[in-house]
Order: sequence, then structure tokens, then C-alpha cells
Amino acid sequence: MRSRAERTTPISTTPVVPKTRPRCLVCGGAVTTGSRYCLNCVPIVNRENLQEQAKLGRIATHSPSAEARRSATQTKQFAAIPSWNPSERPSWLNEKAY
Ligand SMILES: [Zn+2]
Repeated sequence: MRSRAERTTPISTTPVVPKTRPRCLVCGGAVTTGSRYCLNCVPIVNRENLQEQAKLGRIATHSPSAEARRSATQTKQFAAIPSWNPSERPSWLNEKAY
């Protein structure tokens, strides 16, 4: 039985490297460092998380502060749209304005 001796191969010489490579928790596919899910599964997980949060925090979702925060976010996004597309702004409009 030599298997015991072979087992004593010095594993400790390896530097501090994560033993498990980051893999998607859903499908086990490769993910970019720092992520827990692959690009395919991230939307699914996010949706499930949202549903869970909606279930758990149903009261919080309907609280006035949450509603206000949501509408504020929408307003901000809506107001930010023109600056995102400067090409849609007719430049001649400024010239005419002068
Ligand atoms: Zn995945």
C-alpha cells in the first residue's frame, strides 16, 4: 500500500490560490471574477431575488416612501434621457435661437 505515501505530496507549497474556481451557482459555468453567476443566469437570479424581496417586503413596497423613491428614480431617468442622446438634439435649434 503505497497510496498513503503518495498522498503526502506537499500541497502546502501552493500559494494562496482559491481552490475552487469561480463558477456559476446556477449552471456551474465559468463566470468572471467577482461574480457568482454567469451572464446567462444573472438576469434569472436577479428576477428571482426581486420576486423573493417582493414577497418578503410586500409591506415595504407599498409604503409611501418606497413609492416616492421609485417615482423619483423614474423622474431622474426620464430627465437624463435627453443628455444621453445629444445627437437627437438638433444643433440648428441653437443657431435659430440666436
Ligand atoms: Zn449560469
